[in-house]
Amino acid sequence: MNIDGKLISAKRKDALKQEIEKLKNEGKRIPKLSVVLVGNNQASQTYVRNKDKACAYVGMLSDVIRLDEQISEEELMQVVQQLNQDEQVDGILVQLPLPSHIHEEKILNLIDPQKDVDGFHPINVAKLVLGQNGLVPCTPQGMMVLLDEINYDLTGKEVVVVGRSNIVGKPVALLCLHKHATVTIAHSRTMNLASLCQRADVLIAAIGKPKFFNRDYIKKGAVVLDVGINRDENNKLCGDVDYEDVKDIAAYITPVPGGVGPMTIAMLLENTLKAYYQREEKKNGI
Ligand code: NAP
Repeated sequence: MNIDGKLISAKRKDALKQEIEKLKNEGKRIPKLSVVLVGNNQASQTYVRNKDKACAYVGMLSDVIRLDEQISEEELMQVVQQLNQDEQVDGILVQLPLPSHIHEEKILNLIDPQKDVDGFHPINVAKLVLGQNGLVPCTPQGMMVLLDEINYDLTGKEVVVVGRSNIVGKPVALLCLHKHATVTIAHSRTMNLASLCQRADVLIAAIGKPKFFNRDYIKKGAVVLDVGINRDENNKLCGDVDYEDVKDIAAYITPVPGGVGPMTIAMLLENTLKAYYQREEKKNGI
């Protein structure tokens, strides 16, 4: 059965819209997301446009700060510092990738952890490891919502995460661990990947290889979450999982497009609202 990420994401955005409407009616300040976009990368432009549209849909304030490809690291650092200090800004997102002359890590580490709605700052990463209440990366968080939506209890289940990136593989593995799953993280050096995956009650595919996982990797009745966004031989969007080959074996599967992908923006908006509430509470000394 498909897990309909598009529908679930729309539901979450509608709930956010109502919450922001309520803030407006109560005369409260409205949450704001600032997105920094450096250069003209086509994919980044599309992502940023979609984030801006989603903010408008839920009634959140947003602005996109477009900067020249040639901007110096120093100048970009100043932009981030200004956003850190801006009382009206709750969430800061620096769209990746940055041009090669800029150290990504230096910029991401400069973002105020309270406004770090991507959840990439070391403070938020540490909080995630410790199981403390920080800002969690959006795509992994979206996958946990999808599992909640099908009432899937991870307690004691075997989860295999394939891919160990800092933005997907590692954080989603930690989230599953906190939900009491037994978690294995696999990667490009893992041996006997297919037999490892066949043990998984939940397989999380996050490697960026079109249709890599066929039925040989899937246990009957497994839940398959496909994070990959790739193009197939006909230039059509596809995931890391060979959907047609796997769909009858898996109990649940996320399609690409329309599965994990749409959740990411919804979680970005939820993180911005969370950052807003946490900052408001701090201001009010709660
Ligand atoms: P990444 O940083 O490139 O990491 C890929 C991971 O997959 C690495 O850990 C790599 O292992 C592993 N890997 C590569 N080939 C493998 C193989 N043949 N067997 C086993 N492991 C293999 O990728 P990412 O940023 O996590 O993204 C993964 C995919 O998710 C991409 O398609 C990306 O576009 C997509 N994505 C989607 C969303 C969304 O919103 N839906 C968000 C983020 C990313 P090593 O560490 O050993 O190199």
